[in-house]
Amino acid sequence: MPRSLAKRRMVRGVAITYSARVRILLTSDLHYRLRQYDWLIGAASAFDVVVVAGDHLDISAAVSGDVQIAALSASFAALARKTRLLVCSGNHDLDARSGDGEKTASWLQRLRAFGVTIDGDTVRIADTLFTVCPWWDGPKSKDAVEQLLIAASAHRIEGERWVWLYHAPPEGKLSWTGKRHFGDPLVPQLLARHKPTAVFCGHIHEAPFRQGGSWIERVGDTWLFNAGHQIGDVPARIEIDFNAGIARWITMEGTEAQSLAL
Ligand SMILES: [Zn+2]
Repeated sequence: MPRSLAKRRMVRGVAITYSARVRILLTSDLHYRLRQYDWLIGAASAFDVVVVAGDHLDISAAVSGDVQIAALSASFAALARKTRLLVCSGNHDLDARSGDGEKTASWLQRLRAFGVTIDGDTVRIADTLFTVCPWWDGPKSKDAVEQLLIAASAHRIEGERWVWLYHAPPEGKLSWTGKRHFGDPLVPQLLARHKPTAVFCGHIHEAPFRQGGSWIERVGDTWLFNAGHQIGDVPARIEIDFNAGIARWITMEGTEAQSLAL
């Protein structure tokens, strides 16, 4: 873990070595912009955790889904060699149907072999628990997300930071396109039930760039983030350091910082 101080503490009688700071880089909605992935690969080693919160593929692209999946799988494998990589599915990433007929991102499952943390996984990195929620396409997969979070909550040590990857933000500043809201109706219930520290979203490309929208929002006990989408070779992104209590949104238009201290 780069530029981090290793510390030890006892958790339930077990000594855990953890980094005093966890530097997180959050982006999403890269939509098969391979040069943005190349930029991420170059930047990754400066961060302890890199998160790509869904919509890796572009279903409207001329390039076939299989070709996109092959190229992006190679990019994710390269990223995972540089740092801890967490990736959730978005609505563009669904390449198969599960047994109950709902769409799923089966190709992401193969990335686990490269050390990528993906849909359905819960991992502890230093002093933070992360849970990766898949895109839900219907009642069965929606129920599976609810069950995933109930199961994951059992792993949370009291007072521990808990961060979710969840592609679609709830209705609010992060779901505002400038014309209308596209909020996920399940998220408010999940926030009320589990009170996570933060949810890393994406999905609404315009929200951070529009009047009335934002890249960060506080709902109850939870910080919500959405970096948005920009053209060019460098992704819109958010650098988050909970230990230092700071988040920075960085785009071609400039940088905005927000204190996470309450
Ligand atoms: Zn998208």
